[in-house]
Amino acid sequence: MKVAVFSAKKYDQDGFGQWADPSLQFSYFDSRLNSLNVKLAQGCHAICAFVNDDLSAEVLQQMSVMGIEMVALRCAGFNNVDLDTAKALGIRIARVPAYSPEAVAEHTVAMMLTLNRKLHKAFNRVRDDNFAIDGLLGFNMHGKTVGLIGTGRIGQATARILKGFGCKLLCYDVEPAEELAGHYVSLNEIYAQSDIISLHCPLNPATKHLINTDSLAKMRDGVMLINTSRGGLVNTKTVIEGLKSRKIGYLGLDVYEQEADIFFENLSEQVIDDEVFKRLLTFPNVLITSHQAFFTKEALQQISSITSDNLMAFAGGNTTGNELVP
Ligand code: NAD
Repeated sequence: MKVAVFSAKKYDQDGFGQWADPSLQFSYFDSRLNSLNVKLAQGCHAICAFVNDDLSAEVLQQMSVMGIEMVALRCAGFNNVDLDTAKALGIRIARVPAYSPEAVAEHTVAMMLTLNRKLHKAFNRVRDDNFAIDGLLGFNMHGKTVGLIGTGRIGQATARILKGFGCKLLCYDVEPAEELAGHYVSLNEIYAQSDIISLHCPLNPATKHLINTDSLAKMRDGVMLINTSRGGLVNTKTVIEGLKSRKIGYLGLDVYEQEADIFFENLSEQVIDDEVFKRLLTFPNVLITSHQAFFTKEALQQISSITSDNLMAFAGGNTTGNELVP
């Protein structure tokens, strides 16, 4: 079975080389999938795509004409896929629903601690032989109230770590989890009471720009906001206003609404035109990582082997339970 892998990096090749079924023949393309380059997949049976690949109706229609009948997403989120069009065209879509919730949860907490204890500044200071600690004052995580919006696999893994710190947890989810019974409150209570708010829900029409002028106004002054889910959950211009007014005291983003043009590439020799993104980078209390929360050895192994299982099931006319239906 021939598979065209888009947005492919060396670590993807290494992962599939190590953990995928050897009968799968992968062709790797560094570029993001879009309507102009989908023809690179000519002659393949399936496409393997990642978070910022374009799987809109236009691209799916071209795939269908080329006889491609399957997309294996090597990620959990699927907000970039037009599922209705895929169904109408008979293109099957499978994903990796859970590869390592702990990987994302641990990165989430790493962002909280970095912003709180200003490790990003301390690292540079010490390397510059500056051993002064003024300006690095943090706060104890113990006893702080953390609001988790979305308590699926990653939200629950984050909750387990934060419980160990002695944080008070407030949770919101449209489908509460048994593990966190007793912690659920309304979104408004999360906004009003949390010292730290962390987003762990999917991006869909109900959650787009969940963090907006209205929700921000309900939050505590100096709140820490962390988003390791999807960029579209946050209205970036609003949070810039929140940083300027000091409403937001700390902002940690592993995802960004317009990340597709920026993340996963080395742009250090280029001019970045995105004025909103560049403004975010000017704040001393903003930490941005480029969608790396998932990026651990354990998660890569899971992603490679589950994607391989999904492709092999498709080749054998079977299903894996990882298929997406609208
Ligand atoms: P999950 O499906 O296990 O959990 C998502 C939870 O969000 C569910 O409990 C669901 O009921 C809840 N939810 C749905 N709509 C909601 C709403 N309107 N308000 C509040 N909660 C709502 O997913 P997960 O594995 O925990 O992943 C969460 C998100 O993390 C994914 O959607 C994905 O976008 C993101 N993610 C990011 C990375 C990264 O590297 N940064 C990696 C993996 C996943």
